[in-house]
Amino acid sequence: MDNTLPCPVCNNQAAFFDTADFNKSCEERRGIALQPTGVMIQYFRCLGCGFCFAPEFEQWTLEDFSTHIYNEDYVAVDPDYLSIRPHDNADLLSRNFGKNKARIRHLDYGGGNGMMSELLQAEGWNSKSYDPFNDPDMQISSLGKFNCITAFEVFEHVPDVSVLMQNLNTLLEDKGGILFSTLLSDGQLDDGTLGWWYAAPRNGHISLFSAQSLKWLGQRYGLQLRSLTNGTHLFYREVLPDWLS
Ligand SMILES: [Zn+2]
Repeated sequence: MDNTLPCPVCNNQAAFFDTADFNKSCEERRGIALQPTGVMIQYFRCLGCGFCFAPEFEQWTLEDFSTHIYNEDYVAVDPDYLSIRPHDNADLLSRNFGKNKARIRHLDYGGGNGMMSELLQAEGWNSKSYDPFNDPDMQISSLGKFNCITAFEVFEHVPDVSVLMQNLNTLLEDKGGILFSTLLSDGQLDDGTLGWWYAAPRNGHISLFSAQSLKWLGQRYGLQLRSLTNGTHLFYREVLPDWLS
């Protein structure tokens, strides 16, 4: 592989950064380490925007991801994903925006088995779930348009950020907003290694965003960025969505 590549976010030069064993997982932060596979995954980091990514996954099909990452062992490296996280995220939406639910047409992008959406529906929300792994043949444009899109635990998992953004852009109404989660890498990669717990190929964490890279990624699609916390962000067009208040 070349030692430099064009950055998928900003097209500046991205240089080879470091490798991580395929089995490096987020659970290492809790002291639980899987047996190393010896397969080393290369990550590149953009010299312009700081986006850090593992280019070999761009070639992977959905089936490859299902076989090697999102398989029956995945729950061991992400124990919250089946039930705890959908409940937590539904609570977060309900608590913060529930009073505006009559104005919200919600899509949970990357919603897995659809649990979060079902929880919101039970509270009277107009909510739908879409996940490329659950609905591989779905035409994005057939889903309709939404003024509130959530994408929890999605951005760091995508092998091609352009496909993700094109899809989100197609689904978003003009005055809508995309509420999404991903931990910012700022300050985490400064030692020149992938020691950061979040940089974890076994979890499918293959796209690591800096604040600058998220901002520039949004700009390419006419979206502005507002970071609500270090891990929760909003993309919107000219005006903040009216359900945000
Ligand atoms: Zn870049």
